Amino acid sequence: MIFGARPVRRLVRVGSVPVGGGAPVSVQSMTKTDTRDVAATVAQIHQLTEAGCDIVRLAVPDLAAARALGAIKAEITLPLVADIHFNHRLALEAIRQGVDKIRLNPGNLRKPEYVSEVARRAGEAGVAIRVGVNAGSLPPESRARYEAEHGPAEATARAMLDAAKEQIALLEAEGFHDIVVSAKAFDVPATVRAYQLIAAACDYPLHIGITEAGLPPAGTVRSAVGLGLLLAGGLGDTLRVSLPTDPVEEVRVGRAILGALNLRRRGLTLVVCPTCGRCEVDLRGLAERAEQRLADLDRRLHEQGREITVAIMGCVVNGPGEAREAHVGVAAGKGRGVIFSHGHPLRTVEEGQVLDTLVEEIEKVVREGSAPAPPTTS
Ligand code: SF4
Repeated sequence: MIFGARPVRRLVRVGSVPVGGGAPVSVQSMTKTDTRDVAATVAQIHQLTEAGCDIVRLAVPDLAAARALGAIKAEITLPLVADIHFNHRLALEAIRQGVDKIRLNPGNLRKPEYVSEVARRAGEAGVAIRVGVNAGSLPPESRARYEAEHGPAEATARAMLDAAKEQIALLEAEGFHDIVVSAKAFDVPATVRAYQLIAAACDYPLHIGITEAGLPPAGTVRSAVGLGLLLAGGLGDTLRVSLPTDPVEEVRVGRAILGALNLRRRGLTLVVCPTCGRCEVDLRGLAERAEQRLADLDRRLHEQGREITVAIMGCVVNGPGEAREAHVGVAAGKGRGVIFSHGHPLRTVEEGQVLDTLVEEIEKVVREGSAPAPPTTS
């Protein structure tokens, strides 16, 4: 085994999506619209659904936002999570509105009786709860307790574990066990360590993420490194990439991280060579046009749980060989392109015909059913 074994954690159902229990790692995102604007929020959720998002979370800053959740839920197919801070009444209203999961932040919902009340109502309604610890909202003294002896990253991790355990204990005292746990920090080592500690302390499924990761590309890299380390270590049942971008980008990055680890490869995977001195075409332009032309196919394959790997390579000398694992591809050359499959040339076409011919071949492979089902998640 190349990566750490992925231990099967407790199964929690978030609407129709299983989290834990050996289910594939799901990808979440969060809308960036005003939740009170039902039409705009529903439109963004539809975009996320098309991009392959599995679960969507919404900010619930006030009662008007909480009251909009039912109307939003009626228009979408994704399981809906209400993100609650400070005010437990918003959680109670969200449950009344029919959400599938509540995210509570132990750092800012501290009164035990409030947490207990949310647990009771969620239990009655069959709604899951995420204990969503965030390093930024921990009381400073919780870290200080460990800092002198263990250093900052370990202190943050231990403080996050304490916060999670405290809220989990309140939920369990109400007989509530549909719990998902997260412990996110900006600092990658602190986050990884926190999840290691939490994984050893309980068997609830883990929602993983690096919070406030930053602008792309730095934020994308930070997320990929943090989530990659966790997943390679067998930790993570559902994930969210946090970027200050269109949320569709978060989903794309999340899926790419899972794809890079062979944890979930569905839809279209594009292999694109980096180009070098041999390249004599606008390869990036060709790859971008191919990605646009194949967007519908990607969606179709995704719905069917199938996948195809397509290579766009810059030269005929090394291209086909370098992309041997692609189902189909093109090796571009000056004024022409060689269409190939699994490293073997099929035919050569003029530059103006490259994209149409490539798409034709891809459609043929898909129609003939030779694009296989994805590997099962391990
Ligand atoms: Fe260079 Fe050709 Fe390799 Fe692209 S496929 S990196 S152009 S050698």
